[in-house]
Amino acid sequence: MRNHYRVSLIPGDGIGPEITEATIKVLEATNVQIDYELCLAGAAAEEHLGNPLPEETLKSLWQTGVGLKGPLIVQPGSPPVVIGHPPRTYGSPNAALRGECGIFANIRPAKHFSGVPGRFSDLPINLTTVREVSEGIYVGGERKIGAGRAEAVVVATQEAAERIARFGFKLVQREHRKKVTLVHKANVLPYTDGLYLETFYRVAHEFPELSAEDRMIDAAAAQMVLDPVAYDVIIAPNQYGDILSDLAAAVVGGLGLGPGGNYGEQIAFFEACHGAATDIAGRNIANPIALILSGAMMLDYCGEQERAALIRRAVEEFLKQGRELTPDLGGTGTTKGTAEAICRLIEASS
Ligand code: NAD
Repeated sequence: MRNHYRVSLIPGDGIGPEITEATIKVLEATNVQIDYELCLAGAAAEEHLGNPLPEETLKSLWQTGVGLKGPLIVQPGSPPVVIGHPPRTYGSPNAALRGECGIFANIRPAKHFSGVPGRFSDLPINLTTVREVSEGIYVGGERKIGAGRAEAVVVATQEAAERIARFGFKLVQREHRKKVTLVHKANVLPYTDGLYLETFYRVAHEFPELSAEDRMIDAAAAQMVLDPVAYDVIIAPNQYGDILSDLAAAVVGGLGLGPGGNYGEQIAFFEACHGAATDIAGRNIANPIALILSGAMMLDYCGEQERAALIRRAVEEFLKQGRELTPDLGGTGTTKGTAEAICRLIEASS
């Protein structure tokens, strides 16, 4: 734990600037000292600098080692992002940011909060998705191969499969959780998903006290809706983790409650699991809680567990009280009002 932190701040696009402002207020309420380095990426960077992922943004992240990020708009059909010499090609600025920062794991906790209406509001859901993000089908190897035909490459390596499995098992140990489930489709993809499956059970031997199981991705999606408490920590190859973690956020009350962290060997940055929500941008009605909880994950990463817990308790209390909730949670509250109420709860408890 240090007294002072430097964080690269990427407000991003759409609702990004509103929810990052709200999150900074909540972080300030814990009295943590953070100097933010403002960085551009996505449509905002394209507009001001003609580049969706400027070199300065990457430089800042490599210097601070920690980032807080809003969502980036990715227009369908926009050209791939090409960086460096020799050139490295990515399908989107988000993929480029992860790739250039050496990110390999994306963690998305989905937790039940009392007070949040929904189909499963009486279940104690606590489900974390550990998604591999350095390979899979999002590596940018997609191409047209003639009229009416296209193909995409899936990359799977033993090194990445081992790294994500070990990362997932260690998370289970650290958080005193019980069970790890690998999702896959190894019956039809025996070489790529099969490699993940085989590697998962090999790594599981290093953690004999933990329970390890696997599920086909289609069955796992169905079970997550029928019996969401059946899962504890899920390890998933890139695309399955992308989809399943949004499903998990929806199961506990919506995208506005789903935080996330991206972890590499040297850099970690934190962002909500939702996108830029352009349909509600600029109206002060976006739910900032997903990014606020991502801010708590950032404090954990910095060794500030007590301050992170303050934020989580205040969010829990705010949702339980159920006043001033934003429209996605059935209320008429605002982004700013949510942040102010959470700040008041932090100040009252610290
Ligand atoms: P989205 O997650 O932005 O929105 C889906 C729906 O959920 C919308 O109706 C939106 O209003 C609502 N929503 C999302 N977050 C909310 C919040 N915090 N509070 C209240 N409501 C919320 O997904 P989309 O509409 O498919 O994508 C919009 C843009 O965001 C696209 O350009 C997409 O590429 C981009 N995107 C970026 C990221 C990222 O940067 N990590 C992730 C996903 C999508």
